[in-house]
Amino acid sequence: MSRIVYVNGDYVPEEEAKVSVFDRGFLMADAVYEVTSVLGGKLLDFPGHTARLHRSLSELDMGCPVTDEELLAIHRELVVRNGIVDGLIYLQVTRGNPGDRDFVFPDPAVVKPGIVLFTQSKPGLAESPAARTGWRVISIPDIRWGRRDIKTVQLLYPSMGKMMAKKAGVDDAWLVEEGVVTEGTSNNAYIVKDGRIITRNLSNDILHGITRAAVLRFAREAQMTVEERAFTLEEAKGADEAFITSASAFVMPVVEIDGAKLGAGTPGPVATRLREIYLEESRRAAI
Ligand code: PMP
Repeated sequence: MSRIVYVNGDYVPEEEAKVSVFDRGFLMADAVYEVTSVLGGKLLDFPGHTARLHRSLSELDMGCPVTDEELLAIHRELVVRNGIVDGLIYLQVTRGNPGDRDFVFPDPAVVKPGIVLFTQSKPGLAESPAARTGWRVISIPDIRWGRRDIKTVQLLYPSMGKMMAKKAGVDDAWLVEEGVVTEGTSNNAYIVKDGRIITRNLSNDILHGITRAAVLRFAREAQMTVEERAFTLEEAKGADEAFITSASAFVMPVVEIDGAKLGAGTPGPVATRLREIYLEESRRAAI
């Protein structure tokens, strides 16, 4: 069945949706995005995703073509029109179509940003069987640009990382720079040692995950100890357990790094508990 997508003010069947070949998102990856998960027809962490969208846009001197109220209304309309119970809503804002290809940014008073939203239905998204067995990951060098805090659509290297993981027969890759783990290809990375949850501190080196913020808040509320600092790949391989967080995977246990099993090689108690808390609290607060 064809989806209804949102393109620059219109709801259209996906076959009729059009974006110019001169759009800077297409030509230069001059675009930012957000992914919001839907459980039971409701949006998870929506205010967080909207806040990060504005931050990404402002770091790139890009305007937002719609108000926050319109943004929420568009998300909800797409959920209804596409009958989404569980799934994901992708949003992309591009610098738009200036006509000619040019490295210089167009005048924002003349060229309006473009906006596209589409849905992906994922029935049973929160009941992923992988959460019961955990992910296996490999490490790869982090050769991305220096502003990973901006959520741009430059996803070629993360995509290549996923392919390296696939080729190695595992689930994902952890990115490593100067011996320390930055994050996963499309998620934030954590280890657990002696009951302490350790995850990279916020900086330009990693994406400021919306799921990360919520999970760390819930962990602290549950009196768990959280250390926001860099950790080495060696430290990770010797950890008691590990996990990742993202809007699409929630909290996913990691049971193996570069072939080294963590603990018993099964999802650990901290990751398992945090997944339960995150899903419970986020469903409760979903809008
Ligand atoms: N890091 C990277 C590189 C990502 O692509 C993502 C997901 N888009 C995340 C972390 C997790 O962010 P969030 O929890 O907001 O999905």
